[in-house]
Amino acid sequence: MENHPFHYDIDVAAAGVVHFEDFIDSSFYLIEGADKALLIDTGCGGGNVRRLASAFTDKPLELAVTHAHGDHDAHAAEFDKVYMHRADILQLEEMQARFRVPEEERLHASLFTPLEDGSVIDMGDYVVRTLALPGHTVGSVLFVDEGHKVVFTGDAVGSGVGVWMQLPGCSTVSQYKADLLRLLTALYPYREYLFLGGHFRQAGQPGTPQYNPVCFRMVEDMVRLCDQMLSGRFQDELYDSDKSFGDERAHIASFGTAQMVYLPSRVR
Ligand SMILES: [Zn+2]
Ligand SMILES: [Zn+2]
Repeated sequence: MENHPFHYDIDVAAAGVVHFEDFIDSSFYLIEGADKALLIDTGCGGGNVRRLASAFTDKPLELAVTHAHGDHDAHAAEFDKVYMHRADILQLEEMQARFRVPEEERLHASLFTPLEDGSVIDMGDYVVRTLALPGHTVGSVLFVDEGHKVVFTGDAVGSGVGVWMQLPGCSTVSQYKADLLRLLTALYPYREYLFLGGHFRQAGQPGTPQYNPVCFRMVEDMVRLCDQMLSGRFQDELYDSDKSFGDERAHIASFGTAQMVYLPSRVR
């Protein structure tokens, strides 16, 4: 990361939610409760992200990571307290080896405080709730911020241009559908919240035909898309050949607001 650009775009995504965007459009967010501040993900830009985020709060700062991909957790070692779902902690070593993370940038499992589906992070005056959605990684989660009425979705349902399910270690479509159905029930009380994805800019510009922000409806559409894929009747195209990450060529399927990049051999 030393040679990565130290350039961040910073704005306010919602009242009380600071939004940082790094040089590859990885998004991370700072929220503050009565007792502490919490950064959701770190991006993978240059410099020290803990120091960058600390400038926006005087509360003790902790980190919650949506999943163990380098574009979301690259700066985790700068923090004393780091939350991540247990399943991604267990997979960490294997994933870092697979993505050829340089030895000196690898994270150790001992750094992380494990979360489960339903775990809460107590901010003092409200809680941040963890909702698991395995698929993109085995330990992918959404964080529900009940104080600011925001759901941080990481890469669990994509950020508006398709959830990446073509990577090694991703669920099959049929397993993903089962987990989406469980998530829908847990997420229903928060359906009117603002949803913020792990790559904010991928949703496009408001007012353009491509604009597709993450929302509760996208999760519902994703279930319908899985149904269509499992029944064999769905809209499908070949995906960029350099983003297949293996021998099999990835495809992209879509329904409504939902899109999925996947491998045809990993539907069932
Ligand atoms: Zn990811
Ligand atoms: Zn990502």
